[in-house]
Amino acid sequence: MNLSNENVIHVIDGEVEYIQFKRLLDFPEVVHAFGLKPLDYRAHGENNQNVPEAYAKLAGSIGVEWSSIVRPGQKHTNHVLVIESKENQEAPDMFLDYLKETDGLITDKSKIALATTNADCIILLFYDPIKKVIASVHSGWRGTFQKIAQVTVRKMKEQFGCQAQDMIVCICPSIRVCHFEVEDDVKDMCEQIFADTGRLEEIIHQGDIKEGKQKYFIDTILITKILLEAEGVFPENIIDSGICSVCASEKVHSRRADGAEYGLGTGMIYLK
Ligand SMILES: [Zn+2]
Repeated sequence: MNLSNENVIHVIDGEVEYIQFKRLLDFPEVVHAFGLKPLDYRAHGENNQNVPEAYAKLAGSIGVEWSSIVRPGQKHTNHVLVIESKENQEAPDMFLDYLKETDGLITDKSKIALATTNADCIILLFYDPIKKVIASVHSGWRGTFQKIAQVTVRKMKEQFGCQAQDMIVCICPSIRVCHFEVEDDVKDMCEQIFADTGRLEEIIHQGDIKEGKQKYFIDTILITKILLEAEGVFPENIIDSGICSVCASEKVHSRRADGAEYGLGTGMIYLK
């Protein structure tokens, strides 16, 4: 399975496979990748706190210093943290207290690799080529409902003077409306939060009744685009990989497709 399309290229470097966004490749000062199978970016070992070996391999492949990686704890919050410097000098910053309650990272510093992980959740990679600011953001449905995409744009504006019209936002592989099936509880929450968009008919699609329960499909990618555009990001600067993690689970880690033993992909971005 090759995931290349009009917006992304699928790179195969031995066991290291990743996609890159063509739009970001126009900027030589930025390095980025979304890590695919067969490598797994989930932590194992004591207390699940061993830095996954996959990071050293991906970092080596894309020319990023392994010890420059910072990865948030990801608790399905809308907390986005600005990284001024790393805590560890010789190793990645992972599992550290300051990262625990965080789902998004922003920096304007060079030689810091911002990495988030997913298995169906949305990962967004941001770049403002004018102010030279990057962000990597984990936006599962809970984060999407808490509008973490909007929180990120606002933080980039407030803390770095970024302008929305300069921002490029890349949407990595994630579960899509074809597979994001929910029940009344999540559907009701979605209706309540996003009624003011006036676009619920596009966002929520009625599914089948299974075992007496009405199912729905929710388009969290569309919600994310609506949130970004509401903040002033130009539609042509929102670059969608268009890849569903479940449909493409041969190469993309997917909780729904792979079950209890699911692994994690990673979305990484770095300024040289
Ligand atoms: Zn799908």
